[in-house]
Amino acid sequence: METAQDIMQKNNAIAEADTSVAVPSDLPDEISQGITSGGEIRRIVVDRSACIGARPCVVAAEKLFQIDEENLAYVVDPNSVDQDTVRVAAESCPVLAILLYDKDGNKIFPQ
Ligand code: SF4
Repeated sequence: METAQDIMQKNNAIAEADTSVAVPSDLPDEISQGITSGGEIRRIVVDRSACIGARPCVVAAEKLFQIDEENLAYVVDPNSVDQDTVRVAAESCPVLAILLYDKDGNKIFPQ
């Protein structure tokens, strides 16, 4: 069975290899990220150094975010929910640890 670490590494590798989506200049060091296949939001990032494991993101979109054994959120499937749900989940984070970017690397949320 795939572990949280496996999923995180896979999604981070896919994101790093996807040259069609610009890398933001302000990415935090410790991240779990996923690239969506379309829409305004193309890069979904969890700042794992900011995450406090409060879980509303998981409640809002459990196929998109899950909590690992360190009690930190990670991106599971960036294409599992629609873009509105991605935004709602990001907005639900009490410490704004979920960052959303467009294809040019511009931050959409939080602003
Ligand atoms: S809502 Fe924010 S703090 Fe809570 S688990 Fe998700 S990313 Fe972490």
